[in-house]
Amino acid sequence: MALVDLHTGALVGGATEVSTVLEPTADESALSEAAGGNAGPIAISFPVVTDGRGFSLARLLRERHGFKGEIRAVGHLIPDHGQFLLRSGFDTAEIKDAEAAHVWKASLERIRHNYQPAVRNWLPLRWDASRKEAATLDERLARIDSLTDRIREVKRRIEGRIAFSTSLGLEDQAILHAIADSGVDVDVFTLDTGRLFPEVLETIELSELRYRLRIRLVVPDAKEVEELVARDGVYGFRHAVENRKACCEIRKVRPLNRALEGAQGWMAGLRREHSDERAAVPLAEWDAERGLTKINPMADWSTKQLMSYIAANNVPVNPLHARGFVSIGCAPCTRAVQPGEHPRAGRWWWENEEKKECGLHLNGKRKGKAA
Ligand code: SF4
Repeated sequence: MALVDLHTGALVGGATEVSTVLEPTADESALSEAAGGNAGPIAISFPVVTDGRGFSLARLLRERHGFKGEIRAVGHLIPDHGQFLLRSGFDTAEIKDAEAAHVWKASLERIRHNYQPAVRNWLPLRWDASRKEAATLDERLARIDSLTDRIREVKRRIEGRIAFSTSLGLEDQAILHAIADSGVDVDVFTLDTGRLFPEVLETIELSELRYRLRIRLVVPDAKEVEELVARDGVYGFRHAVENRKACCEIRKVRPLNRALEGAQGWMAGLRREHSDERAAVPLAEWDAERGLTKINPMADWSTKQLMSYIAANNVPVNPLHARGFVSIGCAPCTRAVQPGEHPRAGRWWWENEEKKECGLHLNGKRKGKAA
């Protein structure tokens, strides 16, 4: 038998004899007696690997009986128990094979954030830490001028998959160019709503050839689309805001959420100049609903900056832009705008200005305003 120190993952030499061994059935009086008896280690037994009662006993010893000495886990234990034992108040774990100590150490170090408070919270709680990390990233990005370097910084700061949802619009094409330029591995996808302009598909093809990458097409659930069209008609979204929101929900929002599952970062092309609704869009923020960091790497760019970047880098753009289309979404819901009109005037032009968001980019405070 060997003893692992759960605080460090190291083997303990010269372990102290335990004063009491508690079975999982120990009641309050047994806990009280053990805690008050002496300061010697208290062992808690795990008779089978699936018996979790020992975790509760350790917690009660710490929180209800104020025990400050060593609590040792003994019995059927596996390395995956390590973090839970430590967070429940245990200090050491008895293991059969000293050779397995390195596996326990790796298991203890693998988790870097916790989701819920416990007896010990030495790791940052996930939501707080993520919010702070996103705020720090926002500040860092603001100090970086180059779009390519911003993308690299995002990759440096976010572990795991970074997804980029592109509509193939001007902003998104500039970001795509910067992604290719940066050499950073990003999961690029677009929402194929079934209502896209053919020019959008041509732009996908052109971009894939130019940048030698694949743009993943994410499609809506066929059954949901069938039911929607059966209920509202093929152009039902023109007849009521609710219908339009239902269409956007099924063709865009749900597929987007599916595409973002498991991603740690989500990049998009929102800019503050787009609308009042987007005037405060940060470069990076924590999206609590989706559990990821949302990045708008050109949130602070002006239209002039964007157009200069596209021209300087010969970025391929949707030919519809040359015909007066500025913000391009689904074909039946997008029209060209006249000179002087607001850039988003061509989206759902039959609706009230305040309701013109499809739900993809609503987050936190902004959600309440645009819903
Ligand atoms: S933009 Fe129009 S067609 Fe596209 S999902 Fe929304 S309502 Fe439906």
